[in-house]
Amino acid sequence: MIVLANDGITSGGKETLEKAGFEVHTVRVAQEQLANYLLENKVTALLVRSATQVDKHIIDSCPDLQLIGRGGVGMDNIDVAYAKERGRHVINTPAASSDSVAELVFAHLSGGVRSLHESNRLMPLEGDIHFKALKNSFAKGSELRGKTLGIIGFGRIGKAVARLALGAGMKVIYNDQTTPRGSVEVSFFDGRSVPFEFTTTPFEELLRTSDFITLHVPAQKKPVIGAEEIKKMKAGAALVNTSRGGIVDEVALIDALEEGKLRFAALDVFTSEPKPEVQILMQPKLSLSPHIGASTVEAQERIGEELAQGVIRCLQT
Ligand code: NAD
Repeated sequence: MIVLANDGITSGGKETLEKAGFEVHTVRVAQEQLANYLLENKVTALLVRSATQVDKHIIDSCPDLQLIGRGGVGMDNIDVAYAKERGRHVINTPAASSDSVAELVFAHLSGGVRSLHESNRLMPLEGDIHFKALKNSFAKGSELRGKTLGIIGFGRIGKAVARLALGAGMKVIYNDQTTPRGSVEVSFFDGRSVPFEFTTTPFEELLRTSDFITLHVPAQKKPVIGAEEIKKMKAGAALVNTSRGGIVDEVALIDALEEGKLRFAALDVFTSEPKPEVQILMQPKLSLSPHIGASTVEAQERIGEELAQGVIRCLQT
């Protein structure tokens, strides 16, 4: 059976599939040629990340296609309902990247409170002539310890963020539409772990009381944070979005940064990917990363292995 890993797969995942008898193709087939490639090569399993679009046309293109696998969490590039209706297995790797995304949130938060995103831009340009002035303007950072982190969406990633925040001495609150109560265990390197219990905080209260807000919800039809929600946030609060572009209204966000209502914000995901709006790219109070939440070596290895095991489970047992 042929597996096409169109957006790549780790060598470990490839090896696991090959040991199980699959032939793994790792060529990157352009979207327009994908349907033909699947048909001509009698592909049984199509594995993708976020780049390849798996729509009705792709799903119907090849009678041999039995499985569509998404390395990662969000399935918004796959017509899951239609694939299932047509009898295809659809799998993803929901837990493999939670810690990597959570650590990126903390990279943005820790950098943001010390304005590293701004000083990294300015130091090479002005550091030799205006060092003292730069030092003064960046000498007003703050600590995370003792501050309130509001987590919107208390699923796998939201909980991984909560663990890091508790370890950093932050007060953690969350809002989740379907999870009235939640618990996390903070584990230490020596094997000890401490359980924490939470109950959901009303959305408006979270907006009003959080020093930092981070979003971990799936793709939505309309923004979760727009101008009205930003108005209700604390003056000088900060916002991090590593979930999906469009969950934060980018125009409202830029306005809030320009007006000084928000101190900084961080985006790993954009309404317009792979070309974020130029106003986003040029806004000095934004800490930016190019959708790399899940892109650590460790997460990629787990994703490759989980996908391979999923293919084997669905197609060989
Ligand atoms: P999850 O399904 O475990 O958790 C999502 C939670 O959000 C659920 O508990 C759900 O009840 C809650 N929710 C949904 N809509 C809500 C709303 N409007 N308000 C409050 N809560 C709401 O998902 P997860 O594994 O934690 O992943 C979350 C999202 O992170 C994914 O859907 C994906 O879009 C994104 N993600 C991004 C990257 C990246 O590279 N930046 C990597 C992985 C996942």
